Amino acid sequence: KERNGHEPEFLQAVEEVAETVIPYIVKHDIYYGKNILLRMVEPERLISFRVCWVDDKGEIQVNRGYRVQMNSAIGPYKGGLRFHPTVNASILKFLAFEQVFKNSLTTLPMGGGKGGSDFDPKGKSDNEIMRFCHAFMSEMFRHIGPNTDVPAGDIGVGGREIGFLFGMYKKLRNEFTGVLTGKGMSWGGSLIRPEATGYGTVYFAEKMLNNKGDDFKEKTVVVSGSGNVAQYAVEKSLQLGAKVLTMSDSSGYIFDADGIDTEKLAYIMELKNVKRARISEYVKEYPNAEFIKGKTPWTVACDIALPCATQNELNEDDAKTLLSNGCICVSEGANMPSTIHAVHIFQEARILYAPGKASNAGGVATSGLEMSQNALRLNWTRKEVDEKLKDIMSDIHDSCIEYGKEEDGYINYVKGANIAGFVKVADAMLAQGIV
Ligand code: NDP
Repeated sequence: KERNGHEPEFLQAVEEVAETVIPYIVKHDIYYGKNILLRMVEPERLISFRVCWVDDKGEIQVNRGYRVQMNSAIGPYKGGLRFHPTVNASILKFLAFEQVFKNSLTTLPMGGGKGGSDFDPKGKSDNEIMRFCHAFMSEMFRHIGPNTDVPAGDIGVGGREIGFLFGMYKKLRNEFTGVLTGKGMSWGGSLIRPEATGYGTVYFAEKMLNNKGDDFKEKTVVVSGSGNVAQYAVEKSLQLGAKVLTMSDSSGYIFDADGIDTEKLAYIMELKNVKRARISEYVKEYPNAEFIKGKTPWTVACDIALPCATQNELNEDDAKTLLSNGCICVSEGANMPSTIHAVHIFQEARILYAPGKASNAGGVATSGLEMSQNALRLNWTRKEVDEKLKDIMSDIHDSCIEYGKEEDGYINYVKGANIAGFVKVADAMLAQGIV
């Protein structure tokens, strides 16, 4: 706390892990007294750099770029890039720290990292996005590589941005390698990668429900966000027979009592991915729906809540409202969307609650599969990748049960995910000595 007191999001992420991992360390001699958690909370390397680019008016803009290389004990650093005005060292350190545990849980050989910039892509032209991405990569290229650090997308970084970043990396290095994931299909991408985080979040929720003899069929679902993760969480919920009532963006949420069906979802995808417009436009196309400005969707009664927008978007009061409206399952598509108090409320009520580092691990797992396909120089079919994704989500669920079962039989998925993720990384760090 003394060293990182000015980094609230990072402290929050560490506190959430420490609550469950410290009691485990105390009980296990191989970890006790080795300051292993203290070593894990310090990034191996944090790079901060200047990004200068020229906007469409010819003015020079300056942004700050980062790459946090958190832990490489079990594989090359791996984790997304976020372009959003709120990006700072605290947010990226929290994301990189979570990523270490998440990547460990996938069972694939990936260390943890995260990066990005305080650049705001909203309202920028394609050319401005390209010039920014090229400028960003003109510094970052020297710190990454297919066996060193493999970035991917996150908020504000999708297929378009990965393309521009990859183009500049390839030019500077003069090599075609799998240095980024989330690539286009004709240049090294993997089928199912765009869908993977959202699908995985729903697969994980379905696993939790199945474990209780239940499933998604005819359930009502409330989703926040309308970006990559939210879109595919909605798609998979619909495929499993649920009714989706809401989606949102930073301006507010839409509530459609008739349900957001496949056709309406296609409209939202076009709206967000092609037109890059606001979610409020939805009610012009579907006037039976409502747009609720400046609010999150947690007051809408539902069986299942899927927070898929951003950190700390669901607080203690939201958690209480969800419970009083009958919510039985929360599966996080976003990273740390629920505050610690909200998590405690879900757990005390003994409802099914999955933290993002378990339930949204499908994205990075499929990035891991993209890396394998790049290394093998072949492409697996959609069915093959989807099957592997399902298996990985199921394995993560099993690990959570192994390490997270409480005495009364309740599965504490936070404890399960934290300890399962910790054990593998800690064992590797101990084996490699004090470095
Ligand atoms: P996108 O940029 O595609 O979408 C983000 C969505 O969240 C948008 O609807 C955006 O609204 C909304 N949002 C962003 N910031 C805020 C905010 N401060 N308040 C309210 N809404 C906000 O990002 P992704 O879908 O890729 O990422 C969403 C979450 O999932 C993030 O937490 C990310 O870290 C996590 N995640 C993503 C993975 C991936 O594979 N993409 C993998 C694992 C986790 P607006 O357009 O108005 O900004």
